[in-house]
Amino acid sequence: MATPAVALESSAPRPQFPVHAAVEQAAPPLIVIDPGHGMGNKKPGVFDPGIVGVKNTREAELALEYAKCLQLKLLGQGTETLLTRLGNDDPCPLDLRVKLAKTHKADLLVSIHFNGDAVEGNSAPDNKVKGCEVLYRSAVGTPAAERSIYFARAVAEAMGENIRLRPKPVVDRQDLYVLRYSPSILIEVGFLDDPEDAELLLSRQWMNLAMGCVARAILAQF
Ligand SMILES: [Zn+2]
Repeated sequence: MATPAVALESSAPRPQFPVHAAVEQAAPPLIVIDPGHGMGNKKPGVFDPGIVGVKNTREAELALEYAKCLQLKLLGQGTETLLTRLGNDDPCPLDLRVKLAKTHKADLLVSIHFNGDAVEGNSAPDNKVKGCEVLYRSAVGTPAAERSIYFARAVAEAMGENIRLRPKPVVDRQDLYVLRYSPSILIEVGFLDDPEDAELLLSRQWMNLAMGCVARAILAQF
């Protein structure tokens, strides 16, 4: 159906809006999502698979799926997002991950990882204490640095609704490069080499549920 053209006389008064009535929209938060490991993470041209767990699942590949899922959840709630790598062949050195967040002045950097007993720096390698933990780097001096712990606590609480938490679910780590950005968190979603954790981690339905909870926990901090 044709829309009737509306003729506006040139003499018609144009609506006037006082300048002060303009509503200033706050920019939506920008979240940089970092799927851990992958091509060139540690050495150029070398694929870093991270933990290889149950059913030969590689941490780098699963982290990418979780990162994309989290991205969709965040986009659905009006947030802007950037992924540090889009594919498993994308070269992504560690320092570029932090640089991307810096360049875009991200409101948060979230790195997605999975744990395993063979992980270097795993504080309590054993066969009993599995589950999720959220890492952050405590720092004083800037408001951005001091915010990391609040994101970490909120995300750990949200994850506790979906998977068992490690005895100390929020851990201060000074040694992880990616946490040099402020504010930032690193989610060790669960143990990829543990059959009980892996049953959840490899379920698409569970991934959707858990990442939805994480997205809401993050957004509640803004
Ligand atoms: Zn990892």
